[in-house]
Amino acid sequence: MSHCHVCGQTLPPPLYRSPHAISITSLCEVLPQRVAVAFCAACGHLQTDALADLDAYYDRDYKILIGSADEDQFYAMVEGRKVFRTEHQVNTLLAKVHLPDGARVLDYGCAKSSSLRRLTELRPDIEPHVFDVSDMYLPYWNRFVRPENCSLYTPNPEWANRFDLITSFFALEHVADPRALAKTVAGLLKPDGLFYCIVPNVYANTADFVVADHVNHFSAASLRRLMEDAGMQVVSLDAHAHNSAWVLVATRKTPATPKSPAPEEHAGLEQQARDLAAYWSAFADRVRAFEATHPHAQAVAIYGSGFYHDYFYP
Ligand SMILES: [Zn+2]
Repeated sequence: MSHCHVCGQTLPPPLYRSPHAISITSLCEVLPQRVAVAFCAACGHLQTDALADLDAYYDRDYKILIGSADEDQFYAMVEGRKVFRTEHQVNTLLAKVHLPDGARVLDYGCAKSSSLRRLTELRPDIEPHVFDVSDMYLPYWNRFVRPENCSLYTPNPEWANRFDLITSFFALEHVADPRALAKTVAGLLKPDGLFYCIVPNVYANTADFVVADHVNHFSAASLRRLMEDAGMQVVSLDAHAHNSAWVLVATRKTPATPKSPAPEEHAGLEQQARDLAAYWSAFADRVRAFEATHPHAQAVAIYGSGFYHDYFYP
């Protein structure tokens, strides 16, 4: 029996199970296991069963963009110019958050922390700090963060109430205990500090539903609940600033009267989740039916080089 990562309620049986023991991670690795996704009606959270050994996976096997310091992901073409993910993330952050002079900033669960590195180039006055659960990114941190401002596996206990800003770029979707993470973040913020967080929005990008290592698929309701239970309050939640993602800004200030998620806010979510389950349950059959209508095709090109490519042709 599993429990909701966000509100702790017992989860009902999964509304989706992949038909075969094969799944794909966000880094396009093919794993010999099924994906099962359950919906929590209490808080509006969607949750995937965790990989067998999650801690070891992120310590040793999860190697995102570690080919070089500058390896990045294409984000979009803007007025004829290629914009990469890091540039977009930092521009969005600076548009949403006022950073005081000399601000102490922590990138939490940061991997290479290219966004914080870029931020320090634009704002050399800030004092960067990094934390992650793997030591494989140390060579990248050492280029722009002082050694005493780096923490591995557990955040430095001296960091309590220290930060003006804590960032989390596409990390919370991987974490089996986001409640603990949010509470830790709240304890590291100054009383008026801000938590800035980006996670995928499965309701905008349906592929997120079947990504094996995305154990959390947040809704606006479940993000709010997560923040409030950790003693934080949502300042803004934006579904449009970053493609197919939620951009959340929260403050440590506790609301005068804690606001439990409004039921009407996620009344339609369960049906949307069931629609996603139906879409992916029939997906492979639709592809096979299409292939059957083109039996004489000589060459096949798959448009899209990442997750969808591997889903079609692992
Ligand atoms: Zn829940």
